[in-house]
Amino acid sequence: MKRIIENLVSIGWAVKMALRINARIFLGWGLCSILLSLLPAVALSYNKQTVSILSDFLLSGQGSFQDVLPSIVILGLILTVIGISKRINGNFLYFIMYDAYYFGLENYMMDVVRNIEIKTLMDKQYRDAHWTVMGRCGALADFMSSGTVFLSKMVGAISLLIVAFQTSSAIFAIASVYIVMVLILNFLSADKVRWNGRQYNEASRLSNYYQDSVMSPGVAKELRIYGLGRETISKWEKAYESVEKIDKRYVRIRQLVAFISGAGFYVFMAGMMGYCIFRVADGGMSVDVFLMLYAMGQSISEVTQTLSTSFQEADRGLYMLDFQRKFVHSVPKTAEHGEEGFQPADEDTVFEADSLCFSYDDRNEVLHQLSFSIKKGETVALVGMNGSGKTTLVKLLIGLFSPTKGNLRFYGKPYDPQTRGALVQKVGMFFQDFYIFHASLRENVGFGDVKNLEDTDRILYAMKKGGADQLISKLPKGLEQWLMRVVKKDGAMLSGGEKQRVAVSRAYMSEKEVLIFDEPAAALDPIAEMKQFQAIREKIAGRTAILISHRVGFARLADKILVLDQGRLAESGTHEELMAKNGIYAGFFREQAQWYETEEDGLSLSERQGQI
Ligand code: ADP
Repeated sequence: MKRIIENLVSIGWAVKMALRINARIFLGWGLCSILLSLLPAVALSYNKQTVSILSDFLLSGQGSFQDVLPSIVILGLILTVIGISKRINGNFLYFIMYDAYYFGLENYMMDVVRNIEIKTLMDKQYRDAHWTVMGRCGALADFMSSGTVFLSKMVGAISLLIVAFQTSSAIFAIASVYIVMVLILNFLSADKVRWNGRQYNEASRLSNYYQDSVMSPGVAKELRIYGLGRETISKWEKAYESVEKIDKRYVRIRQLVAFISGAGFYVFMAGMMGYCIFRVADGGMSVDVFLMLYAMGQSISEVTQTLSTSFQEADRGLYMLDFQRKFVHSVPKTAEHGEEGFQPADEDTVFEADSLCFSYDDRNEVLHQLSFSIKKGETVALVGMNGSGKTTLVKLLIGLFSPTKGNLRFYGKPYDPQTRGALVQKVGMFFQDFYIFHASLRENVGFGDVKNLEDTDRILYAMKKGGADQLISKLPKGLEQWLMRVVKKDGAMLSGGEKQRVAVSRAYMSEKEVLIFDEPAAALDPIAEMKQFQAIREKIAGRTAILISHRVGFARLADKILVLDQGRLAESGTHEELMAKNGIYAGFFREQAQWYETEEDGLSLSERQGQI
């Protein structure tokens, strides 16, 4: 019962989606398809009439050939339209609906995904669900076209049964039983003949992993170093066995259902023809009625076969639509960013955190009760051990994640859609877990301020500041060189440091009033690192900035230092204040300084950075 209700809800959702994407196709072609499916019954009645006029004309010379001719022509026309309608219901309808609904649903799903919270996207379960949802956007087209065919064939079957009922109640009973049996068989076997793509995908994930690993240079290198090639193949064989099992079970059951339906057809035709021959022999049925019933048997069998296949296809589509509907309704979404209308409530306080808490998995809290404020024009350094929560904190500040408890304000305003829109416009950001787009070098830098993508001077300036300018002469196609190889085989592969320079350059594209740099020099050599810091220092002059670096000396650039320790705000103050306090920060500073002292001048690298 629960399943039936869920199916009905999903049918409602599918119809709503179809109407929203393209109502004309659904209503127009649905009606057309239903009307066309009445034709076989019309043809049969006409057939019966024509056969009786013809047999009267041939046997007893009643009427003339001219009288008979129009009936034959009309019957021919009806049969031609029936032939065309079969094509329309079959390939044409699917093609038309696929064209509209496949892309329509994909577009809708992309839009839904665009607004799913980043935290949700990090959950593997949701990512898998999303993968399945996007991979089966044809479900709406399948369901709508097969559902329309199913409905129209049901109307066709009922109209044929009415003709049968008017001719012979026994034939009506035999035909009804046959149609109902086929429907029940399909209904009962629906679960088993349904291609369960999700189960298959889950099972095939491991075997795909082994298959890919021998082809992936990084993994293959490891496999060869340790001589694990054969081992991987035998693991793949084992994993593939379970995939095959699902595959075989599905094919077997599908074949069995097809066999039972096929055998049912012969039983039906044998029963019907046996009855007719018996009646013709005892004079209870005329030859024209016999011929009409024979044609009806064929029409019923055609209708029932299409009923079967369209039911299975519609059911398969509905199963996926049910999954898609639940996915769309269950995932937490972020509100659309407001483009306009942000009015600061406090011009001087850029960020303000009040008892801020955050956890990635709703179990382990990563940030605990953080309270601080960052004033306009202030440079703040975030310092702490790896894993202390620095990156997480700045992701909260720019609105990528929402606090699990506590409050955040940007210029005195809570994080509503307007504020989120303002954050995009006002805050420039470089993350240590940056991403190199599979796009040209120009785009990789220019996306930092997409409206200036074609402003080559600005891109060159940003690349110079980010230390990526040498790449232009190194890469064969300069600024237009495609990066990465997943999309294009001649895409350029960059070293870790080069990638970092490209991503940092992106942050230099825009002239945002707030800048955040999260480990901007982690992948650079010490000299390049110093240059990077120098450029950042110039860039942040006069702006509000947050800096994160494993180099504690870097914090000397800051007006204020916030020290995080296991997600708690352990210390805050200026470099001098914290050194005097002799706590965590002072410990970090001294420990690092001893590694960077040089024999020549006795200065630590960080001290020299402080002098730049
Ligand atoms: P930091 O920037 O100081 O190195 P992070 O903010 O990256 O620290 O990490 C803080 C804590 O959050 C760590 O314990 C880390 O394991 C955890 N963490 C970071 N990213 C995720 C994630 N995507 N899912 C779950 N936990 C995470």
